Amino acid sequence: MSIFEQLAGYDHEQILFCRNDDVGLRAIIAIHNTTLGPALGGCRLYDYPSEQDAVRDVLRLSRGMTYKAAVAGLDLGGGKAVILGDPANKTEAMFRAFGRHIASLQGRYITAEDMNTSVEDMDNIRRETKFVTGSAAAHGGSGDPSPVTAWGCFHGIRACLEVTYGSPEVAGRTVAIQGVGNVGYWLAKYLHQAGAKLVYADISRRNLTRATEEFGGTVVEGDEIYKANCDVLAPCAIGGTLNPRTIPLVRAPIIAGGANNQLDDEGRDGEALATRGIAFAPDYVINAGGLINVYSELKGYPREKAMSDAASIFNTVKRIINKAKSESTTTVRAANRVAEERIEQVGKLRRLHVP
Ligand code: NAD
Repeated sequence: MSIFEQLAGYDHEQILFCRNDDVGLRAIIAIHNTTLGPALGGCRLYDYPSEQDAVRDVLRLSRGMTYKAAVAGLDLGGGKAVILGDPANKTEAMFRAFGRHIASLQGRYITAEDMNTSVEDMDNIRRETKFVTGSAAAHGGSGDPSPVTAWGCFHGIRACLEVTYGSPEVAGRTVAIQGVGNVGYWLAKYLHQAGAKLVYADISRRNLTRATEEFGGTVVEGDEIYKANCDVLAPCAIGGTLNPRTIPLVRAPIIAGGANNQLDDEGRDGEALATRGIAFAPDYVINAGGLINVYSELKGYPREKAMSDAASIFNTVKRIINKAKSESTTTVRAANRVAEERIEQVGKLRRLHVP
């Protein structure tokens, strides 16, 4: 498939190929949709097997950002960047050169951290352009997004409880958390403070010990987390964990957690969950707290405002589950429609020229 056909397939606005051989930079910036605002999305550094793989990844991820920002109600469009190369070879010059390419877009794309990129890399980009987010809190940035992401997940879980049991009350409910790293740890903390019982699985003994020592709870191994006798399964580890092998194992009536791309196949696995009557909070809706946090940095808002905005994920998740019910569709399709409807409506407004 040609690159223009791929752009049309995902409905992208623009793609920028960036090359500076002197500093070993090969990067692609994809701007999916800027109807709602500048395209914001992280910059991933990865040694892709082929250029085609890099193009596919950046197109897929940037489109996802459009939907995430739209459902979260932010004035942001969707974009993403990938730098092709071995993370072991990254340099200051490479990120500064990349920063100059971002500068050339004059604010149509704003970057952030992603896989294999760090606060330090963002600081190098910032030496060349202001269109970058994600510096350390000590440098006036929004700092670690995990507490905000987890706070949004906590409220998303409350929404699922209300839809399923008629009350958002967390006390006395059991939540099984898969992955107690950054997001999972903070989610466990909020749930524990609210009186929930916790079950965990993780491949990191250190992270499991930290969680059990601070919040109590039970540890299970590997796949046992899917079979846990609980009210909510909260995937907070890696993508693709919900698939034809694991979905039949799930006992919880609710799946709501912070991991990205939880469904191995959005259509097939979304249908399987709906058929089983499991309330699934679409990941990009419930984990939007990280994006809300970065948005607050752009706006100069304090952390408290980011936290209260993340808490509004309660209403968003409830609305999406109810929409899926009334339209007899999956929650993922309902969420996608909410995003598309907002972009369409605001797009009409944008036709009105304001000098
Ligand atoms: P992290 O690396 O800090 O935590 C992940 C945890 O999952 C680790 O403790 C790891 O040991 C564990 N893990 C990995 N594979 C596992 C497996 N097979 N079974 C059980 N546990 C496993 O990462 P994080 O920042 O907490 O992010 C977790 C997920 O949330 C990722 O999918 C990430 O993309 C998504 N997310 C994070 C944020 C954020 O603010 N950090 C925002 C949005 C989405």
